[in-house]
Amino acid sequence: MSNISFKELLQKIFFSKEEILRLLESQGDDRQLLFAKAAETKKEFVGNIVYFRGLIEYSNRCSKNCYYCGIRRENPFPHRYTMTDNEVYDAVKYAYKERYSSLVIQSGEINSQKYINQITKMLKEIREITNKEMGITLSLGEQSEETLQQWKDAGARRYLLRIETSSPELYSKLHPNDKLHDYEGRLNVLRLTRQLGYQVGSGVMIGLPFQTIENLADDLIFLRDFDIDMVGMGPYIEHSETPLFQYRDSLLPQTERFDLTLKMIAILRIMMKDINIASTTAMQAIDKMGREKALKAGANVIMPNLTPQKYRKNYMLYEDKPCIDEEADQCKNCLSIRVRLAGDTIGFGEWGDSKHFANRK
Ligand code: SAM
Ligand code: SF4
Repeated sequence: MSNISFKELLQKIFFSKEEILRLLESQGDDRQLLFAKAAETKKEFVGNIVYFRGLIEYSNRCSKNCYYCGIRRENPFPHRYTMTDNEVYDAVKYAYKERYSSLVIQSGEINSQKYINQITKMLKEIREITNKEMGITLSLGEQSEETLQQWKDAGARRYLLRIETSSPELYSKLHPNDKLHDYEGRLNVLRLTRQLGYQVGSGVMIGLPFQTIENLADDLIFLRDFDIDMVGMGPYIEHSETPLFQYRDSLLPQTERFDLTLKMIAILRIMMKDINIASTTAMQAIDKMGREKALKAGANVIMPNLTPQKYRKNYMLYEDKPCIDEEADQCKNCLSIRVRLAGDTIGFGEWGDSKHFANRK
């Protein structure tokens, strides 16, 4: 164990696993120093500007069965929906009018040719509607090289695929053990997105059953080693209609999962100074001020929900998901206030590409 002071530790440019553990376990004054250093790093390297990504939860149909997720294939409860083309384009027009300049299209994982072509068609149309001014991120699960290339050619710039955990052992406890849920397979798709020239996003869940603090330190090292451009990390939140719910009594209290997530964001900001880090919706599910706190801890991206209100209750990945009763306008207004409360300004009309991606090239 190194005997340097906590202040000295924060000045280092490269943390060992042991040092990351010390940061994750910090309490009291040390914890405050960690957040102060992260805020200072954010200001210096990415500025106090927050970028909006309009989130379109396109469909809750999914071919997979992840043990944590409320829209997994075998959950009979959510009414399955796919947004119509016009609903998607209305959401895009709203985002364009409000000068969001970036969109995230997310859905359950579907690999049929019909679905692939449908996404391609939508991407082309979105480019037309927005005069090619909209940065598009896809978060549509594991797809083949051909598909990823097709979507890139049609206008997608960024791809978000959370690795969920960097531990293959833990991964196998969170998913069925079959070809469809294979850790190496998921990692390979992440590598593919990099090879194809996407800005690459990943992330993990924090506070999962069976997860240790060492796992979380390894997650941060994984994101650094992968040289990731964008990160979305959030607390795991249980859902009663999922297999992992049986372990609910073994979980850390939600407040501790929340605090660990804030620390993960702060440490990552110090480790990877110029990446984009999202302040995720799951933070707000636990703490009403959760997203502001994440911005203060180093996050610089926020995702106002553009999904039509009638679908939102069916995109329940976890319980108590916030903003399910709001329309896009209310969502935007509430987020604008939140961003200002956190001391940041919104980068309207700016793509807000990952500076890390540009610097790496
Ligand atoms: N289907 C795509 C995929 O899995 O990559 C994209 C959509 S999926 C719903 C997006 C993310 O939701 C997952 O990567 C996972 O981290 C998160 N998620 C799912 N269930 C969750 C839960 N119970 N608590 C917190 N996050 C959850
Ligand atoms: Fe499907 Fe993604 Fe949920 Fe897994 S996390 S069940 S792939 S929507």
